[in-house]
Amino acid sequence: MIEPKQEHMQLALDAAHQSIANGDYGHGCVVVKDGEVISTGYETLKSANDPVNGHAEVDAIRKACQALSQPYLKDCILYSTAEPCPMCMSACIWAKVDTVVYGITRDDMIARMEELKAKGGSEFSWRQIAIPAEYIVEHGEPNVHLLPGYMRDEALKLL
Ligand SMILES: [Zn+2]
Repeated sequence: MIEPKQEHMQLALDAAHQSIANGDYGHGCVVVKDGEVISTGYETLKSANDPVNGHAEVDAIRKACQALSQPYLKDCILYSTAEPCPMCMSACIWAKVDTVVYGITRDDMIARMEELKAKGGSEFSWRQIAIPAEYIVEHGEPNVHLLPGYMRDEALKLL
């Protein structure tokens, strides 16, 4: 496992705030190798009408592979402001990312949605496939190291 750095998660949080400013969901990522930021991923689902490549993790992975001119991200750490969805967690495995660090968890997102529903609000309708990132990692190869809850308090502000 690669040890995370707060400054790199801060860049992912900044990317998430930029996504919100663009009218998208607040979700950001960065890919780092040997302490150097290789790419930044933004949620562009709504602004680009792209429910696949519009996920911040997929954006960051694609950009990092292009920047490094290689199909895999061995020895790279991916920071995400939220627990990756099953598609993105699978993409991390396909890309051979070493470590995935994330802020808020699925449980945080579910709790927030229920909180808003209880208040009668329907603005935040987080859709999901109910498969935790951990489950995908347990059933995937190569093994990706997961570090949940990193700078969670900062990431919670995005919900
Ligand atoms: Zn995703």
